[in-house]
Amino acid sequence: MANLFASDLHLEDQRPDILRAFFRLLDEQKKDLQQIYLLGDIFEVWLGDDTPSACADALAEKLSSLAREGIEIFLLHGNRDFLLGPAYAARCGATLLHEPVLLTVADRPAALLHGDSLCTLDTDYMAFRKMVRDPKWIEQFLAKPLSERIAIGRSLREQSRQSAQQKQEYIMDVTPEEVLATMRELKVELLIHGHTHRPAVHDLVLDGKAVQRLVLGDWHTQGWYLLADDNNILLKSFPFCGE
Ligand code: MN
Repeated sequence: MANLFASDLHLEDQRPDILRAFFRLLDEQKKDLQQIYLLGDIFEVWLGDDTPSACADALAEKLSSLAREGIEIFLLHGNRDFLLGPAYAARCGATLLHEPVLLTVADRPAALLHGDSLCTLDTDYMAFRKMVRDPKWIEQFLAKPLSERIAIGRSLREQSRQSAQQKQEYIMDVTPEEVLATMRELKVELLIHGHTHRPAVHDLVLDGKAVQRLVLGDWHTQGWYLLADDNNILLKSFPFCGE
């Protein structure tokens, strides 16, 4: 049996091809799967569980059918879908987890993060993150009418797009010291995250011990996932073809 990890699908109604590719992967793998973890930015934008979305409906239907077949499903928040709530998770037959998630992967102590918290050099973003992750801010935002939430979301994404264009590449990536500090604090040998859209397996040394940072890629033109069994963990990708 295996566990599947994916991140940064960035699902939106305008991109049904991504959802079809993801469903194809799930159908291919499901007979061997015990657990599925989606590590955030599952959706390009999430403005509340009451927002109408065809791709969200389709994903909930698919995941809940897998849950009924006995696969455990876990969802984490990303920076784009941190407003995803327990109502939507329940529709998916999934459990909503809050990072850092500690677990055993391939017989090693591991942690799951979305990954944005590791990008500490992006001080503008870290300040913004602190503001919008405040439960009071979230409560006030979700109490606004949907039309207002859509307008605010659009303006925040535009600001984020403009500021990203002015930032140097290294600022948008994880801070290496923050990775090691996080792994030391959490006492893990594997750190699995997405967010940076820089899929890779990084072999690192932490206090004289070999550890790994495994980065999931985003689903823009190909699918990325990690498949772990009791002994191994593999980063895999496949192109979207004729989806
Ligand atoms: Mn992200």
